[in-house]
Amino acid sequence: MIIVKSPRELDKMRRAGALVHEVMDDITRRVEPGVTTGELDAIAESRIREAGATPAFKGYRGFPATVCASIDQEVVHGIPGPRRLREGELLSLDLGAVVEGYYGDMAVTVPVGEVPESSRALLRAGRKALEAGIEKMHPGARLSDISHAVQQTAEGAGYAVVRDYAGHGIGREMHEAPQILNYGLPGRGPILKPGMVFAIEPMVNAGGYAVETLSDGWTVVTADGELSVHFEHTVAVTAEGHEVFTDPGRRGCR
Ligand code: MG
Repeated sequence: MIIVKSPRELDKMRRAGALVHEVMDDITRRVEPGVTTGELDAIAESRIREAGATPAFKGYRGFPATVCASIDQEVVHGIPGPRRLREGELLSLDLGAVVEGYYGDMAVTVPVGEVPESSRALLRAGRKALEAGIEKMHPGARLSDISHAVQQTAEGAGYAVVRDYAGHGIGREMHEAPQILNYGLPGRGPILKPGMVFAIEPMVNAGGYAVETLSDGWTVVTADGELSVHFEHTVAVTAEGHEVFTDPGRRGCR
C-alpha cells in the first residue's frame, strides 16, 4: 500500500529534503583531487547532527557511514574512507537524513576535476533520466510511467539502467512501498495521488546493466567495469504536479 502523507507530514519531509540538499551542496562543492571520501562523510555527518537531525544511512543494516561514496565503476553503496579522489574520476554521493521522524534521500554524481567528454555525456544522460522520471510525477499518472520514462531516456542516449536496484516510497521509513523500477512498460501499477512521496533514483551505466557486490558486502560495481552514475531526488505528488523536496522551491506542473 502506498501511504498518502498529510500536509503536516509533508512539511516535515520538506524540511528533511531541504537539509539533505543543503548538506549535499556543501560536500559536492568540496569534491576535488586529493580530498578523501572519509573527509566528505565526516563533514556531512557533523552538519546533519548540528541541525538536530540524524544520518539516515549510518547503522542502516550495519552501513558504517553517513554518505555512500561510489567512484567510477562503483554504482552505489560505496563506503567512504581514506582513498583520495583523483582527477578525472566520477564520484557518486548518496545522502539521507531524518528530521522529526521523516526521511529525505538524494544522490548526485559529480566529476572530480576535469573529466573526459565521454564521462560528461554519461552525467548528462543520468541527470536527464531522473528528470524524465520526475516529469511523470503528477496526479493521474501510473507508477510505471516513471519507470518507462527513465528507461527510455537512458537507453535512448545509448546507456543501460541498473535493474537490481530501484527507487522507493519514502516517509517515516527510508524505504516504503512502492518499489519504483527504472525500466518497464508505461501505464501499469497504481495511479499517483497528491501526498505520495517517492525517491526516484536511476543508476545509469556506460556499459551493460549487470552489477555485482564486492566482498565488503556493500559496494555494488558494474559487472563489466564500465562507469556508472546515480541521481536521486525525493519528490512529492501535488495537486498541480510535483514538488522536489531535495531541490527546495522546485515545483512542476503536469
Ligand atoms: Mg534512495
